Amino acid sequence: MSTGVFGSDGSNLKDPEKSFAIIFRRAYLFKIGIDVGGTKIEGVVLDATNVEQRRMRITTDQHSGYNTIVKRVVSIVEALEGQIGHQRASIGVGSPGAADQETGELRYCNIHCMNGKNFAADLSEAFEKPVRVTNDANCFALAEATLGAAKGCRMVFGMVLGTGCGGGLVFNRQIWNGASGIAGEWGHSSLIFDGPDCYCGRRGCVERYLSGNALEVHYETLSGVSENVQTISDRSIDGDPLPIRVINHFVESFSQATANLITVLDPHVIVIGGGLSGLPQIYTEGLCHLRQNIMGKPLNTLIVKNRLGASSGVIGAALEGQEIV
Ligand SMILES: [Zn+2]
Repeated sequence: MSTGVFGSDGSNLKDPEKSFAIIFRRAYLFKIGIDVGGTKIEGVVLDATNVEQRRMRITTDQHSGYNTIVKRVVSIVEALEGQIGHQRASIGVGSPGAADQETGELRYCNIHCMNGKNFAADLSEAFEKPVRVTNDANCFALAEATLGAAKGCRMVFGMVLGTGCGGGLVFNRQIWNGASGIAGEWGHSSLIFDGPDCYCGRRGCVERYLSGNALEVHYETLSGVSENVQTISDRSIDGDPLPIRVINHFVESFSQATANLITVLDPHVIVIGGGLSGLPQIYTEGLCHLRQNIMGKPLNTLIVKNRLGASSGVIGAALEGQEIV
């Protein structure tokens, strides 16, 4: 695989004149978006008006290693290209983790074999054209800001509440990566300065309180019984005291962390995605707490559930992929 010095957008950092991005700068008729997840790789083809034309899904097979993942992405793209008669299509890929701004190497991937690899450069070489690799939370935010629940809004924060806690920032329908490529990673801002250690090296991170894993661990710690988020939520709604206590702690954490976020960014919309976005208590008690916590009342930021569901990853990847031309 590549050892060259390529940027995360496929550009050649040592010799810009040989950049894939410049050599292949031309308009494409279609956009292919790929979402690389822990268990599946999903692909979609959008036409020029962003209408979905094709969709495929294959297994990631991450335990076979990084080279296998690259090959599987190549195979699903080639299959999708075949389905549209091999017409020219841009390629955008959503991936976990964040690319180092200087080396293009991925960091913080929960698919561990991808860490330290320049995924964008390797895919760009494999396809002999530029391939943009974007953090999956950024793909979610871009998709919702362009075609989903925050369509037409200027500053959009995509808040992903799933097994972990992630986020992405979109301004004027463009992803804002920041100076270090970590813009939007609010799950690793500290909520409790002397809280539990986090794998990122900090303490008391938002993710330790505001994720599916955190909610289930909290319940198990108090009850001695392991239950999933849905069961805990349902029992809370039924009036069971212990689940109510756990859910209340969760929504209070949500309101504190979101109030901090709004104080810094003051976005027009926060779109909530991920497996926990369906928790009704976020939009009832959570918003009630948030209105009490927010500086400069009233709360003008809209807090809404995502509209594109699980499709936001592939759609956002496809939209970002076209930006390279
Ligand atoms: Zn952390």
